[in-house]
Amino acid sequence: MRIFISADIEGVAGVVNAQQGTPGNPEYERARRLMTQEVNAAIAGAFDGGATYVLVNDSHGPMVNLIPEDMDPRAECIIGRPKPMNMTAGLDASFDAVFFTGYHSGAGRHGVLSHTVSGFAFQGIRINGIETAEATLYGAYAGSLGVPVALLTGDDRLAEQCHETFPGSVMVQVKTALGHRSARALSPEMARARIREGAAQAVRAIPGCTPYVIPPPCRLEVDLATVAMADLCGAVPGAERTGPRGIAFECPGITEAQQWIGVMATMCGTLR
Ligand SMILES: [Zn+2]
Repeated sequence: MRIFISADIEGVAGVVNAQQGTPGNPEYERARRLMTQEVNAAIAGAFDGGATYVLVNDSHGPMVNLIPEDMDPRAECIIGRPKPMNMTAGLDASFDAVFFTGYHSGAGRHGVLSHTVSGFAFQGIRINGIETAEATLYGAYAGSLGVPVALLTGDDRLAEQCHETFPGSVMVQVKTALGHRSARALSPEMARARIREGAAQAVRAIPGCTPYVIPPPCRLEVDLATVAMADLCGAVPGAERTGPRGIAFECPGITEAQQWIGVMATMCGTLR
């Protein structure tokens, strides 16, 4: 049984503000330890449940957040960026299921640190008219490979937006959002215990999980944060300007839609 874990940081118990996800301060150093420990809990649970191989992709920001020497040695890790398919780098059809740990709700949602891919660039991302979060975007990519999402961990707003998208999946809620930068959270120790238990349960539940598929082709529509960002992205061949801050691309499938999202996020980063 092969498990792929995509690990983000905003949905970790104890993380509530952007500073905790940004390198260069003591709060980040603490947050990355908490993230590493939650991932270890998911790895341990996966093996408890019968997994034979676990690959973890560090999926937040600089993508070198997980502390290698503290990682469960049974798992392999993908670290660094840029990398193909970003938060799902390394995923292929050989995996039996995907776990999303430390995830959060999408742009515009009233959840802890809600955003989709880039909080700086995107105010909304839709595929074929469906509002997306990172879990649904990357979950749809996994689904295109025939791989279901079996576990989600994060806040109640992640649960509300994404849990039902993945039939048969296990949701471990480690905090309840009070706002974008505040939450009522489990202690890290309790969060890890629940994640370990949830991960084991998720592996056993894989036969009942259904891959989430967005049928191709995919129309990608994004609401950018500024008009200047739309000017920049609108200059890309094939881009359709749908409004002052709106850009759309007609894509053969979810893979290409994700690739355009990555290109636009990187381009918009130059306007910071
Ligand atoms: Zn994220």
